[in-house]
Amino acid sequence: MKHRNQVFDNVLDLVGNTPLVKLNRIASKFKGDFYAKVESFNPGHSSKDRIALYIIEEAERKGILSPGDTIIETTSGNTGFSIAMVSIIKGYDCVLAVSSKSSPDKIDMLKTMGAKVYVCPAHVSADDPRSYYEVAKRLHSEIKGSVYINQYFNQLNIDAHYKSTGPEIWEQTKGKITHLVACSGTGGTISGTAKYLKEQNPDIKVIGVDAFGSVIKKYHETREFDEKEIYPYRIEGLGKNLIPTATDFDVIDEFVKVTDEDSAHTARLIAKTEGMFVGYTSGAVTQALLQLGDEGRFKKDDYVVVIYPDHGARYMSKVYSDKWMNDQGFFDSINEAAAENIQY
Ligand code: PMP
Repeated sequence: MKHRNQVFDNVLDLVGNTPLVKLNRIASKFKGDFYAKVESFNPGHSSKDRIALYIIEEAERKGILSPGDTIIETTSGNTGFSIAMVSIIKGYDCVLAVSSKSSPDKIDMLKTMGAKVYVCPAHVSADDPRSYYEVAKRLHSEIKGSVYINQYFNQLNIDAHYKSTGPEIWEQTKGKITHLVACSGTGGTISGTAKYLKEQNPDIKVIGVDAFGSVIKKYHETREFDEKEIYPYRIEGLGKNLIPTATDFDVIDEFVKVTDEDSAHTARLIAKTEGMFVGYTSGAVTQALLQLGDEGRFKKDDYVVVIYPDHGARYMSKVYSDKWMNDQGFFDSINEAAAENIQY
């Protein structure tokens, strides 16, 4: 990975080495200093560039991939975009099996990036041959020389962050980091980063962020899968209804849960206070930070790092739409939305 004041051979040289930016206002009422690792500075605008590049290059190192081969994954989200981008540069076919619930915008974006998109029915169970999991598995077994990224169950997802995000934060903070607060979806980001940081200093506190409606926090506390925890929620990329093996629960000290509504308001507040246009889960991790601050968890000289996983542009029809916010009941009325905009 190279520095940005150079000329680059292609966009993949821009993966990683994202900036750590001080949060000057949003948490200023708390003791300590707060910084965000802003992953939207990756060329695919999210932290998933790191795992896409790392997993594909690992397959190349092992001799599994040669030009013209196929990369398969089951996501319409950030990972799909990153895999499509890496595939174009390296000359692979990218096949994404996605749910019919995925928005047309997302599907169009992936096709624009050269991916072949299989839209699979959302209403069938995971073990149905038509589900996107089963379609991906079938394509993987049928297409010779294909690689199935399988991010929720791939140890290389953790390794990618262990080798890049962790060392970057350690170097950027000159070893002064005291707390890491990060969202957990596959768990790859928090697990790999935390593992590296705790090897440097075992006293660093690692706090994961989970959604209400997800099983992850309860599993961390009990090591039991509690189905009763599961119900629908709106934040994408955070929490899960299964236990991913890409989460190393031993390097995470605790989980904090955040609501859809608080996270949405906090995402909008980040734009208006810090001038950073970031995604819904950046709102979630900052909301967790505010909850921890309100509990008096930070003291003078604490050096707290949060990870902002992606860019706000992907959420224009959601969190950054006053209409969407109002439709979710996140505003008492559309007038409140207008008032929020005038206030700052
Ligand atoms: N935020 C967003 C927007 C994401 O897409 C993801 C990945 N699912 C995460 C946070 C969580 O990252 P990880 O999967 O590494 O836990």
